[in-house]
Amino acid sequence: MLCYCNSSKDFSACCQPLLAGHKPASCAEALMRSRYSAYVTNAYSYILQTYSIQGRGSLTEAAVAADGKNTTWIRLQIVSIPSDSQVEFKAWYAHNRHLFLMHETSSFIIENGEWKYHAGIIHADTGTYKPRRNEQCICGSGKKYKQCCLSQYK
Ligand SMILES: [Zn+2]
Ligand SMILES: [Zn+2]
Repeated sequence: MLCYCNSSKDFSACCQPLLAGHKPASCAEALMRSRYSAYVTNAYSYILQTYSIQGRGSLTEAAVAADGKNTTWIRLQIVSIPSDSQVEFKAWYAHNRHLFLMHETSSFIIENGEWKYHAGIIHADTGTYKPRRNEQCICGSGKKYKQCCLSQYK
């Protein structure tokens, strides 16, 4: 089974060992990818654990889970890697039959020898995603949105 993070690798050779706690992320990008896969698989404790102390603040697993409820993640695209500790990405998701794009440059730090998500800068095109007419669905199925992800998701 291909990994949720769109790496074209098998899940078991990509994000799964990180989510299972079998190995730490080898770099900021690997952590970013694993956090995306954690959102897809509702692994909210992993999301919480992989925040930096400061980034986590008073956030709770219940709050992360509440955010994730009714959200269907469709696709992750790594846009650029500006530095060892930064990853720019786009993630598309469906919520209440609408498509959204999250476009963020995340920054990561090492705490106790492990990469952690620290903070993110949100880009201006984040928000409701309006597919162009006849644009193929972002999930990569080759179908149009209306016949694909928009018709499936609540
Ligand atoms: Zn992965
Ligand atoms: Zn689709």
